[in-house]
Amino acid sequence: MIKRTPFVAANWKMHKTRAEARDFVAAFLKKIPASGVKTAICPSFTALSTVADALKGSSVAIGAQNMHWEAKGAFTGEVSAGQLKEAGCTHVIIGHSERRKLFKEIDADLNKKLKTCLKEGLLPIFCVGETLEEREAGKMKPVIMGQLHAGLAGISSDDARKTVIAYEPVWAIGTGKNATPEQAQEVHAFIRAWLAEAFGAEASQDMIIQYGGSVKPDNVEAIMKGADIDGALVGGAALDPDGFAAIAAGAAKAKS
Ligand code: PEP
Repeated sequence: MIKRTPFVAANWKMHKTRAEARDFVAAFLKKIPASGVKTAICPSFTALSTVADALKGSSVAIGAQNMHWEAKGAFTGEVSAGQLKEAGCTHVIIGHSERRKLFKEIDADLNKKLKTCLKEGLLPIFCVGETLEEREAGKMKPVIMGQLHAGLAGISSDDARKTVIAYEPVWAIGTGKNATPEQAQEVHAFIRAWLAEAFGAEASQDMIIQYGGSVKPDNVEAIMKGADIDGALVGGAALDPDGFAAIAAGAAKAKS
């Protein structure tokens, strides 16, 4: 059996002040499993360096929730890869469905972000996923394939290996409706097969594919049992340090 260390990441979205972030980290560090799982926290830009300071010396990585592809310039409201690295980031979430939907982010721009991210030595967490309408219309696979094809266009197999894919069915995000373990595994296997075609079987076997959508301490273990499910991108349940630590422990247990 192929062994990939599970990776769970907290997407805090637009939550937590710096003081709240500091409190979270203090509590979380006391609870995280010592081994068997990698973790990351993705706070708002304003709390990145605070979280980085609080996590110093720990194994927990820090990610941003977005990034611009240019290094500098007249891009009001945007943040560059260099600025994120200075703040302590190692990862960047790219193409979250909220960014795609609410901020009209398009595939071509996500591809530019992904390439800059990799060029700058940051590790992308690239999100894909279908809406309920798309699923019900039988378009789930073409939609996901289109997002992968456009978003990962022009990257090498070596860079693909560094890229985390997060499968997040839009209908399961923040709704309390998670995909069943079977539904999630079906899509993850489909994504891995696509990655094998695009980047080679070996690279595809190394790649981490996270599931995201209402992951909680009480469902993570069942979801993570799927052979192609290597971790989770967690929103709501990752705002609580006990909850996120329990999710990390559940992910480790599922793959032990
Ligand atoms: C997310 O925002 O990436 C997410 C999966 O949110 P939630 O866990 O709240 O569904």
